[in-house]
Amino acid sequence: MDANLYINGEWVPTEKRITVENPATLEAVGSAPYAGKEEALLAVAAAEAALPAWRSKTANERAALILKWHQLIIENKETIARIMTLEQGKPLQEALGEVMYAASFLTWYAEEAKRVYGQTVPASAPNKRILVLKQPVGVVAAITPWNFPAAMITRKVGPAIAAGCTVVIKPSEYTPLTAYKLAELAHEAGIPAGVLNVVTGNEKEIGETWMADERVRKVSFTGSTRVGKLLMRQAADTVKNISLELGGHAPYIITKSANLDLTVKEFIAPKFRNAGQTCICPNRVYVHESIRDRFVQQLTDEVRKLKVGNGLEEGVNIGPLINKAAVEKVQNHLQDALDKGAKLATPYEPISAKGYFVPPVVLTDVSDDMLCMREETFGPVVPVVTYRTTEEVIERANKTRYGLAAYVFSQDIQEAFVISEGLEYGIVGLNDGLPATAQAPFGGMKESGIGREGGHWGIEEFLEVKYISLNLG
Ligand code: ADP
Repeated sequence: MDANLYINGEWVPTEKRITVENPATLEAVGSAPYAGKEEALLAVAAAEAALPAWRSKTANERAALILKWHQLIIENKETIARIMTLEQGKPLQEALGEVMYAASFLTWYAEEAKRVYGQTVPASAPNKRILVLKQPVGVVAAITPWNFPAAMITRKVGPAIAAGCTVVIKPSEYTPLTAYKLAELAHEAGIPAGVLNVVTGNEKEIGETWMADERVRKVSFTGSTRVGKLLMRQAADTVKNISLELGGHAPYIITKSANLDLTVKEFIAPKFRNAGQTCICPNRVYVHESIRDRFVQQLTDEVRKLKVGNGLEEGVNIGPLINKAAVEKVQNHLQDALDKGAKLATPYEPISAKGYFVPPVVLTDVSDDMLCMREETFGPVVPVVTYRTTEEVIERANKTRYGLAAYVFSQDIQEAFVISEGLEYGIVGLNDGLPATAQAPFGGMKESGIGREGGHWGIEEFLEVKYISLNLG
């Protein structure tokens, strides 16, 4: 598959191109355009020009077009999932799941478009009225990562265009083909030219161009904390609205009252989904010392069953990592842990196939000073540590600059609530390993980000509050 830029409803070729690689085979799966400043500016001009007509449509009109886009995504779900597996690596079933998850943001926000309510507030003088309106913030720049090539786009673009904003999107250069496929379907759905534009190429140059542009009123970013901080600095010059969904370092706390079967079952999906490359993957396990041995036994039994391989093959649970640097980072974390005294609770058997594969591995005898306990590993590594008291585990879990997701497994309501309340995290999965869903607020505290995506909170990020003070004389 070969894609071109999508600007102002047209497919625009570029001279330079990006080869898109399949991380499972290292073969080319297609190519994408490589754009720079010039095309980035064209995209903003298109979004700016489309804004007045788009925001003037009724919410019902916008909703109808978003629902049509949703319908086309569902009709093409197998095609999109296949593209995603080819360029990103995740198992096909998982890719299909992501397509459905991505589509769910479009129905949710098509509906939510109709509920952008204002307020009237009792005034302090008899002749005055206080009216509060919500209006679209304007042109939005959406910069998205490779780990969820479809869902991170619809989670931003759904609420943005539902609110009446227009969007310029820069997906990751590792997974551009999924993004262009989504744009093709938006076009087919009749979303007007300029409302949604997609550009890929020189990430730094495109980013700088959009961040410096006064016409772009909002940036919504999902990706690394490093780039998030850079965008935040760049946003300062034009005082842009910002929403950032950055890295995480999720603790998975298993108390002595936990239901171990449930705890292990709920652990496998979020930990090994996407080969451990999600920002809410459990990064470190804190298990109460009294049940540590039983937990490690049950966990390793399950981990041994996981099959690593090409995501297009039947029965594969874990696909490749995204690139060589990702593999090196995981190996570095692993080596660091082993050097500092950690032990392998599952055998580490390197995979001979050509591709960025890493086997799943459980580590015990872990200490808090190891890299895997402090930095995002973004891979299928499970460090397990023990704890004694509730206060201690809350303190250790919070001892990080991140604050995205945390998990608590407990059947003692008092203990479960004390821990959940004490955690400095935007999302707590309480006896639940898969908390992300379109209608709930997703986002982090501390260096994990600013703002929330999902639910009615997600559309607020694309709305300005306008206060009209009416004097009746
Ligand atoms: P990851 O480490 O998950 O790849 P990144 O933060 O590097 O996360 O990437 C997330 C998104 O940010 C991608 O679309 C990437 O191209 C983009 N990006 C990377 N560097 C910059 C930059 N300097 N300016 C703007 N966008 C960038």
